[in-house]
Amino acid sequence: MTSNAPLRLQLDGAALADNWHALDRLSGTAACGAAVKANGYGLGASDVTKRLVRAGCSDFFVATWAEASEIADLCEGRSLSVFHGVRREDMAVATESSARPCLNSAEQVQRWREAAGGPCDVMVDTGMNRLGLSVEQVKDGLLDGLKIDTLMSHLACADEPENPVNDAQYAALASLVDKTDAARVSLCNSAGITLGKKYHFDVTRPGISLYGGAQVEALAPHIRQVAFPEAQVIQRRRVEAGQTVGYGGTFRAEVATELAILHLGYADGYLRGFSGTGGTHFGDAACPVVGRVSMDLIAVSVDAAPDVKEGDWLSIDYDLPTASAQSGLSQYELLTTLGRRYQRNWNE
Ligand SMILES: *Cc1c(COP(=O)(O)O)cnc(C)c1O
Repeated sequence: MTSNAPLRLQLDGAALADNWHALDRLSGTAACGAAVKANGYGLGASDVTKRLVRAGCSDFFVATWAEASEIADLCEGRSLSVFHGVRREDMAVATESSARPCLNSAEQVQRWREAAGGPCDVMVDTGMNRLGLSVEQVKDGLLDGLKIDTLMSHLACADEPENPVNDAQYAALASLVDKTDAARVSLCNSAGITLGKKYHFDVTRPGISLYGGAQVEALAPHIRQVAFPEAQVIQRRRVEAGQTVGYGGTFRAEVATELAILHLGYADGYLRGFSGTGGTHFGDAACPVVGRVSMDLIAVSVDAAPDVKEGDWLSIDYDLPTASAQSGLSQYELLTTLGRRYQRNWNE
């Protein structure tokens, strides 16, 4: 990560901690964990984990063993679980790790048993048809004798509170509560936390809402934006009426227009869905994106901010629910595609 980069990601550590505290409160008596997979949803796994440990979080979830290794030291004395379980290639690392695999298939269960691998988690598929053992496999005793910390399942439609799939998934997981020796049961991602107390079980696993995402209205008032991209002006220019801007000439100026060209493009995760729809600000002045987003550049109209000059910084509108609606990207994609070129600056 370059210092002195022409684009930066301002990261609000207090907002991250506040979001975790809010989700912890909303989780009632359940412990509130944190999904920090995919490099902490693009913000930096170590930086995120450090701050959540300080906030009081004790349960961390990643997807792969490489992700677990990166934060294992920070999670010492806390719980760290690897969602994708153990492939044959993972066994050497997994059996030495302080992290637990979340076992997903009969093959993974057998592999872990044969290695006498120690405590594990288990994923049960209750209707998503992605990862996990079937409810029947668990009821038939596949897990008997296994030392399980957390028995979990994952909601497919948690962002649709009225969807009956939620209650069916809840009931399927609830039917297994006494069928294993698991110390804890877990079901909720961020949106799931708002479905009600019975969904919380012992530990929740929010991800996106820690980082400023709100997939459901019920979360919006509790969640603050964490990631604020900013990009520097490389050049100012004026286009005359009738001229076009950028690839394909998709923007044609109806009247003479003042532009700034910024160091930001789809290689930085500012994808082409923002072409002609994204927003930026210089102070309070709105400077909309005009024309197509290029790999490394965007053009914005600075008619509302005539003082903008080469070297100035503009903030990129990146409130996740709004930016998602503008770009057609999910709130998850908006974070996890942020590239390597940002200088990531945490304020605390
Ligand atoms: C990613 C993930 C989460 C977190 O989901 P969010 O929607 O980001 O809150 C929780 N559980 C599992 C199994 C996941 O894969």
